[in-house]
Amino acid sequence: MPEPTLTLPGFLDGRAACAQPGRKPDTWHSVDPATQARARAICRTCPLLTPCRTYARNTPDLTGTWGALTRTPHHPTRPPTTPPCGTLSALRRHRRTGQTCTPCENAHATRVETDRRQRLDHQHALGGTPTGYALHRRLGEPPCDPCLTAERQQSAARRARRAAERAAEAQAPGSTPTRAYAPQTATQAAA
Ligand code: SF4
Ligand SMILES: [Zn+2]
Ligand SMILES: [Zn+2]
Repeated sequence: MPEPTLTLPGFLDGRAACAQPGRKPDTWHSVDPATQARARAICRTCPLLTPCRTYARNTPDLTGTWGALTRTPHHPTRPPTTPPCGTLSALRRHRRTGQTCTPCENAHATRVETDRRQRLDHQHALGGTPTGYALHRRLGEPPCDPCLTAERQQSAARRARRAAERAAEAQAPGSTPTRAYAPQTATQAAA
């Protein structure tokens, strides 16, 4: 098997520690963690460490060890790309790090509103519903008549059902309360 060669980018010159006599280029291409650690240790002595590391960070296709950084699928040398402001990923990143970003917050508010409008359109296609009523409320607007009517009908039906249940309980002979009374302990009372 031919020995792999280390192709150096143009800015690297004869001072590169990896190019000194006696160095094995495959040390910088090894997948063995111990060999990779050895390569990184040599890199840290290299006068070209800083430009080499910059090169590694800016070259996405590199594999192996460069500038004391080893790129493997689980150990990328490039920092994770930062999502642009206005995206949900950017918003999450801001929130994780406790930042407030007005463009991201505004973009998110727009997304939420668009989503609510779409869901409201769907509720209207159904003829107006209690869900539509709730969406109108969340959008900070008065409900339309069909949604308001649907909400009122649902509330009235709920009240009637509860009243019927209470009446049935009261009429049942020897009915017992569904929940037995038990004195509260101090912990329960405080909860
Ligand atoms: S930092 Fe490492 S990879 Fe870069 S030139 Fe020096 S020895 Fe080679
Ligand atoms: Zn942002
Ligand atoms: Zn409506």
